[in-house]
Amino acid sequence: MTVTKILDRLEARGLRVTGQRRVVAQVLQDSDDHPDVEELFARAQAIDAGISIATVYRTVKLFEEAGILEKLEFGDGRARYEDAERQHHDHLIDLSSGKVIEFVDDEIEELQERIARKLGYELRGHRMELYGVPLKSRKSED
Ligand SMILES: [Zn+2]
Repeated sequence: MTVTKILDRLEARGLRVTGQRRVVAQVLQDSDDHPDVEELFARAQAIDAGISIATVYRTVKLFEEAGILEKLEFGDGRARYEDAERQHHDHLIDLSSGKVIEFVDDEIEELQERIARKLGYELRGHRMELYGVPLKSRKSED
């Protein structure tokens, strides 16, 4: 099962693997979206009804500090999380529905490399979020 990946990283960082950490790790591993803590809590509860939201909060914070999770902020005041080792991608946030679309664009990747080089830097990473509304609903509002 893929869950060993996050658990392996926990162990590699010398963190104890408790039953509840295992549950949260499994939930994260199985998520291919960008859940916030409440969503993670709901998914964790489906596996272990005894888990508390405080535990999920603590575990998520611990995973984030260990670099296992990446915290994302999409401008609505809710912190969302995804596996820090997922393949690089950027996000487009639909402001009307809150839907998050993932994309990778080679031109943007190259452009950012070029900008960093021009400024005298070797690029080690970037984060980009686009915010928009669907063209159709925009038209009907006008
Ligand atoms: Zn993502």
